[in-house]
Amino acid sequence: MAYQIDVNVCVGCGACAANCPVSAIDPKDDKYEVKEDTCVSCGACESSCPTGAISQK
Ligand code: SF4
Ligand code: SF4
Repeated sequence: MAYQIDVNVCVGCGACAANCPVSAIDPKDDKYEVKEDTCVSCGACESSCPTGAISQK
């Protein structure tokens, strides 16, 4: 199961994208989004997010 970003909680810092080992997180508008087909559900983004915006689907 992929992870997802709650855009209402994301502040667009980019920490998740920087910590994703498979480059599955891209900028979108002022926030970020997970590419579900690329995500390997490692959880690195979730633990790197300062606002708790990321959770497993
Ligand atoms: S769970 Fe892992 S692979 Fe998926 S988006 Fe987060 S850091 Fe990338
Ligand atoms: S680490 Fe969290 S707050 Fe920062 S861009 Fe990613 S989802 Fe948004």
